[in-house]
Amino acid sequence: MDKPAILGGRRFFRKEIPFSRPTLPKTQRILKNISASMDSGMITNSKFVKKLEDKAAKYLNVKHCVAVTNCTSGLMLTFRALGLTGEVIVPSYTFPATVLAILWNGLKPVFVDIDPKAYNIDPACIESRINSRTSAIVAVYVYGNPPDINGLEKIAKASKLKLIFDAAHAFGSKYNGRFAGGFGDAEIFSLSPTKLITAGEGGLITTDNYELAKKLIMGRNYADPGDYNCRFIGLNARMPESCAILGIETLQDAERCIARRNKLARLYKLRLKEIPGIYFHKVEENSRCTFKDFSVYIEPKQFGLNRDGLAASLKAENIPTRYYFYPAVHKQIFFKKCYFRYKVHLPVTEKISGSILSLPIYSHMPEEDVEKICLALKRIYKFRKEIRKIQNG
Ligand SMILES: *Cc1c(COP(=O)(O)O)cnc(C)c1O
Repeated sequence: MDKPAILGGRRFFRKEIPFSRPTLPKTQRILKNISASMDSGMITNSKFVKKLEDKAAKYLNVKHCVAVTNCTSGLMLTFRALGLTGEVIVPSYTFPATVLAILWNGLKPVFVDIDPKAYNIDPACIESRINSRTSAIVAVYVYGNPPDINGLEKIAKASKLKLIFDAAHAFGSKYNGRFAGGFGDAEIFSLSPTKLITAGEGGLITTDNYELAKKLIMGRNYADPGDYNCRFIGLNARMPESCAILGIETLQDAERCIARRNKLARLYKLRLKEIPGIYFHKVEENSRCTFKDFSVYIEPKQFGLNRDGLAASLKAENIPTRYYFYPAVHKQIFFKKCYFRYKVHLPVTEKISGSILSLPIYSHMPEEDVEKICLALKRIYKFRKEIRKIQNG
């Protein structure tokens, strides 16, 4: 076997391969609808947005779907519309937007740990953090993998807390055979370019609660029902028609994209399980994960290199990686500047976050690339001692 590129061997890929790419429809169909929208003069929050909302609600089997500019504004608006106050329980193992939206509402995030198998919020860690100021639990579908929703619903019900899901990764995820979208008080999806279905930029809020949906529709338009007399602190989160047009087309492709990513994830696992020190997050039997990301946990002693050492070795092969999610939110600069900054004890979050490595995945990624990445990883493992030597020196 040739040496890994980091030791002077030939690179596995001549050019850097993509880490992620949106799977986009034929431009022909898009252009036809864009020109219809232009001709009508209605270029924001109109017919195509409504069509996207209807299609998404039908697909997810939920009563109401409200389109917004992105998942972050959707989270901000949902927290506002639900009237959250005081403290909100949230995992730190997430994309920062989950927590930023809490802070934009002047609420205090109370971080809880994740379970070490699925990397999702651990219901067992929640109860001790509930007090009279707590108003909600915000859970995340990490990589599109559903958290323990039954466990969360039980706690939320018993303590009369709102339950909201950051479902940014979860369009098409299933829990106990049911689509994400109808759980808790509301779920918020992202349609940004790195997510499975995309509108360029966009977000979808789903709920079975009619009153909430009405409030969200008003809220995305400054909370102005039409008389310029705003009813609460709304914002402008109207989705442009051009985004909705793209969203409608990518939504048609959702099942194929999810199936494809599951296939790629199975292939990754099949090939990588032979290598010591590489672990995968657990997807429950009755759940469906979208694999928005494919992240592996690197046990440094068993693998022989730590996460950073492996990432550098893969980079030399022209294989880009990311750290989803590192640093954990409570370790980020902005949180250290918060006035209420407090001591956070999250041993599982810190352990997983410190050793997580996300490998390339996107819906039309060739299987051949997965095979080559796995071969590159095996070669790096084989030469781990030599690599460690140069990395330490
Ligand atoms: C991408 C993402 C968001 C933010 O979504 P936008 O549409 O970019 O605002 C929020 N939460 C999670 C978990 C995400 O991955």
